[in-house]
Amino acid sequence: MFSNVPHPLKLVDTASAWCLGIAAGCVIFATGCGQVDQGQEPPSALPDTEWPLHGLTAAEARFSPLDQIHVDNVGRLGLAWSFDMDSTRGLEATPIMVDGVLYVTSTWSRVYAVDARTGTLLWEYDPDVPGGWARHACCDVVNRGVAISGDRVFVGTLDGRLVALNRADGRVLWDTDTINRSPPYTITGAPRVVGDLVIIGNGGGEFNVRGYVSAYRADTGEMAWRFYTVPGRGDDPHENPALERAAETWPGVDWSVTGGGGTAWDSIAYDADLDLLYVGTGNGSPWARHMRSTESGDHLYLSSILALRPDTGALAWYYQTTPGDNWDYTATQNMILTELEIDDVQRKVLLQAPKNGFFYVLDRATGELLSAEPYVTVTWASHIDMVSGRPVETGQGDYSEQRQLVFPSTLGGHNWHPMAYSPETGLVYIPAREASGYFHPTKLNWFELGSEEAARQTGQPTPKIAGQLLAWDPVTQQAAWRVHQPGLYNGGVLATAGNLVLHGDGDGFLYAHAADTGEERLKLELGTGVIAPPITYSLDGVQYVALLAGYNGIEDDSTPVHRYRNDGRLLVFKLDGRPVPLPKQRPPPQPFPPPADLAAIPGEISHGEGLYLRWCVGCHGIEGTTRGPDLRRMTLGTRGVFHEIVMDGLYAPKGMAGFDDVLSQDDSLAILAFLNEQTRQAHLAQQDGTWAD
Ligand code: CA
Repeated sequence: MFSNVPHPLKLVDTASAWCLGIAAGCVIFATGCGQVDQGQEPPSALPDTEWPLHGLTAAEARFSPLDQIHVDNVGRLGLAWSFDMDSTRGLEATPIMVDGVLYVTSTWSRVYAVDARTGTLLWEYDPDVPGGWARHACCDVVNRGVAISGDRVFVGTLDGRLVALNRADGRVLWDTDTINRSPPYTITGAPRVVGDLVIIGNGGGEFNVRGYVSAYRADTGEMAWRFYTVPGRGDDPHENPALERAAETWPGVDWSVTGGGGTAWDSIAYDADLDLLYVGTGNGSPWARHMRSTESGDHLYLSSILALRPDTGALAWYYQTTPGDNWDYTATQNMILTELEIDDVQRKVLLQAPKNGFFYVLDRATGELLSAEPYVTVTWASHIDMVSGRPVETGQGDYSEQRQLVFPSTLGGHNWHPMAYSPETGLVYIPAREASGYFHPTKLNWFELGSEEAARQTGQPTPKIAGQLLAWDPVTQQAAWRVHQPGLYNGGVLATAGNLVLHGDGDGFLYAHAADTGEERLKLELGTGVIAPPITYSLDGVQYVALLAGYNGIEDDSTPVHRYRNDGRLLVFKLDGRPVPLPKQRPPPQPFPPPADLAAIPGEISHGEGLYLRWCVGCHGIEGTTRGPDLRRMTLGTRGVFHEIVMDGLYAPKGMAGFDDVLSQDDSLAILAFLNEQTRQAHLAQQDGTWAD
């Protein structure tokens, strides 16, 4: 099957003339590429077309030149086949399609190789991540995909390993520990391959780790270089001059509470012409700057875009989107490399819509800020000063003394769900989100979503609190069109030469919109909420769209998890396919035990809340999510063995590890006291009729 192993950057066979720029790995389709005239190419002439890299190309634009499925026939899209991902949690991966095989990751960093024509399983790999590692993941046991180079498949595992597999059979070729087991790093992002190096970062910014990105040799798994994104603690010598400069921006830092943060947990792009590797970095640890240090400082390189030399990891330039990050405003959102004509000059640009709400256009050769404007409601800063390149803070985001409502929320104006850029419309399609959030002066990494009424009371704008598909013109820095979505969570985006923007949504539908006007052309029920981005490929003259369905996010009225089980599926569509079978019905939820039956617990509720937010929320969520069980619905019997579960690991075989290394008996009591109080409130809300389920 793999006798004709393609180069990882090869996109097409017979139609390589579509875009020769692909081999350079940059500025793909920027001018004159993908101009296939609709209707002139009969379907049988459609060449086999792969999706070989995370963002299709190293430029990460997620724009496909395929147009067999187009704006006028997308309504005929139906299911070609589906594949069970053996998951009931969130699925976030971008599938990779090479040589007729789809490579996808599921929860717990499991990898599947599936025949891209039929969905037949070819092999699977389970890295056997210890179930207890879930407690180190802020946001579920997710994975965003593999990288492929030559005969190898690379995957990062939740417990911090980078593993190379044989592409033909999934056999392990090497397995490298990138974190040395402590402190609690996680890997959820997809690796990228540059030359003979595999690039991988990690997560843990909610847990006081020190962020870094590393390069490993593809053939041996040996580390080539590592770039720490923040300085080391105390008097340790700095690893390089860039960190020496960064250390000056961390005055008055309490290293007993922070490891820095700045984790590079998702976004990476590469420009072969400039030979620069772009890495987005995450939030400070903890979120609140007044908790990290007694003096103000920029805390480099938090919330920054870094341009590194890929052979050495040396820093070429950086741009910090949120100096002294205070709101979990990561700059780990996907970066797109293209060319734009700005003020009559053709510029090589990098586009990013980070969580802080501003859309940035940078010159990617130098890091020069070309423009930045808010793409959603922003109240923490009034604007970006174009002389200094810095945001001008309003004071609304200062919560060092009191609780404050701030736009955007910590969920971000845009999160990891990838945006796409179409060179044919010149628009960026952002899975954006309008929401405000409260931040608290003393609660660690705490937030609560704000309502429109709360915004009105604080004299702030009152946009509709919802997700939206936003078509953004990066030259004029204005919206071309917006489509509001029912809920807050939306999936990543794919743009195609068929004048289409395709995306799944938390409401359990696959949507297609006309890329130029935003007109809805498809609303196909899947029954499963989607957060992952679609891809497209063609085989034997047929264009397919592949998408992972599996929800992970806030449950609201729009999310189908109230009706259907959240069984993860790889869904592959084509024109004139069949209807999508709906998932099995969800059994009715376990009732809340009546307050009168809940034992009086001597633990402190507020102490328990803090511990819950530190150790439990990642899996069990706030007020119920789809990740782990809603603990307010624990039976009295389960509450009776709460200690044995939390401290002794009674449910370890189910993936719920014991916490006796970090929690005391009193801590466990306090968490149960907090949960009992939450249960009481939920029970009362149900009785009052204010409960929506
Ligand atoms: Ca974060």
